[in-house]
Amino acid sequence: MIILKSDRELELMAAAGQLVAKTHAAVADAIKPGITTGSLDALAEEYIRSHGGIPSFKGYQGFPASICASINEVVVHGIPGSQVLQAGDIIGIDIGAILEGFHGDMARTYPVGEISNEAERLLWVTQKALEHGISAATVGNRLSDIGHAVQSFVEDQSLSVVRDFVGHGIGRDMHEPPQIPNFGRPGRGPRLQPGMALAIEPMVNMGGWEVKILSDNWTVVTADQSLSAHFEDTIAVTETGPRILTKI
Ligand code: MG
Repeated sequence: MIILKSDRELELMAAAGQLVAKTHAAVADAIKPGITTGSLDALAEEYIRSHGGIPSFKGYQGFPASICASINEVVVHGIPGSQVLQAGDIIGIDIGAILEGFHGDMARTYPVGEISNEAERLLWVTQKALEHGISAATVGNRLSDIGHAVQSFVEDQSLSVVRDFVGHGIGRDMHEPPQIPNFGRPGRGPRLQPGMALAIEPMVNMGGWEVKILSDNWTVVTADQSLSAHFEDTIAVTETGPRILTKI
């Protein structure tokens, strides 16, 4: 069952989302060649806790860190640690926090120094794909219209969307129903209603859509080693259109 949020609950979710967005800004400022992913993780955890939040990824199903840091061919769920960022890398940063009992969840993929034109284009397409998905999250549309909007845009750009990982409802739990695939035919699934809170998160590969999980049981990489990007926002469906909750 999809849990609808009251206006008051959506205000709490907006506060949680704002904390996550501000944490992203702090991490983005620190991204440069020579820094470790572990230091970005420490920075994010400190930022969240010092603003009254709890990093929701830490300990989630045993995940050891507060952020996911996913470099180049890593799609999602990279574990931060001693890996050093190099100029030309792209790094997906996924951050979740709980504030006053509600979750915010947001991902961006950032360039490290100068990156190739192809990598630049991958980031642009993935961000635009997220915007297309969000634009489809309107009252009266159906759930699969979101994934259809993402997939059509990405495939028109000759890139591919990951099938194995999906977006999700969000609220008092990080992952609530429904699952939100980034692909599929339009006009399927439940009708979108005011009060739904959704984490929409396209993952886009330069090569094929297939992925595999490394032996740490977390790190997801592209099967063909091509670059991958991930953008995510937490949004609310409202009478006046989608409202992005993960913003400053
Ligand atoms: Mg998510």
